[in-house]
Amino acid sequence: MAKMRCTCGSLIRDDDPDFSLILLPYREFDDAEADSAMLLGRGVDVRRCQVCGRLWVFWDEGGDAVEYVQVRD
Ligand SMILES: [Zn+2]
Repeated sequence: MAKMRCTCGSLIRDDDPDFSLILLPYREFDDAEADSAMLLGRGVDVRRCQVCGRLWVFWDEGGDAVEYVQVRD
């Protein structure tokens, strides 16, 4: 289990099933041979801060997460 600190100050854990997300291109679904485990491996890991709603996307495996901030009008 890994933890990271959000910009808002809250702690984000990677083992929270409600806030750990997988970003998966539709392209991956075109592969009829792909099962769910295979699809998981092709997805991009995302964490969502449950306090502020920021998304942290790990575009590069093992790299730093890119921060996306929700904008409300
Ligand atoms: Zn936050």
